[in-house]
Amino acid sequence: MALRITDECINCDVCEPECPNQAITLGQEIYEIDPDKCTECVGHFDEPQCVQLCPVSCIPVDPQHVESRETLWQKFQRLQAATKV
Ligand code: SF4
Ligand code: SF4
Repeated sequence: MALRITDECINCDVCEPECPNQAITLGQEIYEIDPDKCTECVGHFDEPQCVQLCPVSCIPVDPQHVESRETLWQKFQRLQAATKV
């Protein structure tokens, strides 16, 4: 499952540099997560780094992007292959 940042985000900038997949960017008003890049940190860490760090706990799982661990692992491998090109 990709994660999603809610409008409770206070734009503290903490999560963006910590995402191993560069999935977090500043949107028009608050930070956003690209569901094509978020692997829930599968392949990099045991726990989603952004969730661990967010001071206001505004990063729930996105019910629009339910994915199994296997699917997340495949996404991780696709992203790794893409960065090697
Ligand atoms: S869970 Fe991991 S991969 Fe997904 S946005 Fe957060 S830090 Fe990035
Ligand atoms: S850590 Fe949380 S509050 Fe800070 S920018 Fe990221 S989502 Fe927003």
